[in-house]
Amino acid sequence: MENVLNLKCLICGRHYRPDEIDYVCPDHGDEGVLDVIYDYDFISRRFSKESLLKSNDFSIWRYLPLLPVDPRVAVPSLSIGWTPLYHSPRLSSDLGLKDIWVKDDGRQPTASFKDRASAIAVIKAKEKGAEIITTASTGNAAAALSGLCASIQQANVIFVPETAPQAKITQLLVFGSRVILVKGTYDDAFELCLKATKTYGWYNRNTAYNPYMTEGKKTASYEICEQLDWNAPDRVFVSVGDGCIIGGLHKGLKDLFTLGWIDKMPKLMGVQAAGSNYMYAAWKNKEDILTKMPINAQTVADSISAGLPRDRIKALAAVNETDGAFICVEDNDILGAIPELARSTGVFAEPAGAAAYAGLVKAVEQNLVSKDETIVVLNTGNGLKDITGAMQAVDLVGTTPFRVAPDLESLKQVVAGW
Ligand SMILES: *Cc1c(COP(=O)(O)O)cnc(C)c1O
Ligand SMILES: [Zn+2]
Repeated sequence: MENVLNLKCLICGRHYRPDEIDYVCPDHGDEGVLDVIYDYDFISRRFSKESLLKSNDFSIWRYLPLLPVDPRVAVPSLSIGWTPLYHSPRLSSDLGLKDIWVKDDGRQPTASFKDRASAIAVIKAKEKGAEIITTASTGNAAAALSGLCASIQQANVIFVPETAPQAKITQLLVFGSRVILVKGTYDDAFELCLKATKTYGWYNRNTAYNPYMTEGKKTASYEICEQLDWNAPDRVFVSVGDGCIIGGLHKGLKDLFTLGWIDKMPKLMGVQAAGSNYMYAAWKNKEDILTKMPINAQTVADSISAGLPRDRIKALAAVNETDGAFICVEDNDILGAIPELARSTGVFAEPAGAAAYAGLVKAVEQNLVSKDETIVVLNTGNGLKDITGAMQAVDLVGTTPFRVAPDLESLKQVVAGW
């Protein structure tokens, strides 16, 4: 990793060599989240926008010189990243805005954004010679790790709350992971997984605790900017649970800005559910996130249900340093956003993915966005991940199927009523 200088504690600023520590700053316990610091001079001598023009690797590995892995490493064969960025004139006209784009990370191999991070996790675990990788997750990080481990025959143990959506638990079982269903919340699963790591020496992928997850997630920013011909958008809307995705987007944008590949920093708009609004409240009320107590999180958008966002330092910086905002949306708005987004774009999002769109709608209502801006909405997870949520959503907007006997007369009666 000649491209990496060191790991920096975001609380005390102390630097560590990458081979010195695996996870957090020892002086700050599990909260001492680290940032990976790169040697941009080294990178820019070897890597440019022009060199990308020649690349025919359409995955996150096209940005390998900006990732914290050895360039000679064998990457997993599952195709991660380079998800489509759709222009949506329909959404733009609905909301009265110039340009709206939807980046669909429901198209990842395990159907969520988390594949970007888990791809890095399995490589780091191999570097360490780990026999077992573990993670706690609301479901998607679990499925991502599970699928990536399956692709390279890596043993793993996964902790999820027993209330995780069936589809997500099913993915884990199909991929052959050892699955621990925790009788508690995601936050409980997270703590138990950390204890297991310390007890058994397993390699831990937990969001924020593992500093490299941000680095996988930042690749979405590279893709967005490259897909827009290096014209950075004005704003990116993304939902926030632990805050690793928004922190990762910020990191990717800072990389590009430092390299001079983009000439402005987009504003990052973090969308939270009203029932899981730790970051929104901390930001709005200027609370100290190092001392603010966990909240009791509850939302239909299970992927952003986090009582104590583990990547809160990076998440808050992402919004504050880009002059963005946190936005808080009700569960009903999140559910309503599922069919609205789907019917305008063909993109079927799980609740946490649709929340980003619900946040854009709210931001427009609150005049936080001006008409001539270029806006990217990030769908972070596929709608098939949570059928119960999707069924609630169509119920809410009153879309029901027509039941008929298998004869033309019955069908005619139905059609006559349209
Ligand atoms: C994990 C996840 C999020 C939130 O990401 P954080 O890093 O926890 O903020 C949003 N949407 C989906 C679908 C997710 O799986
Ligand atoms: Zn520290």
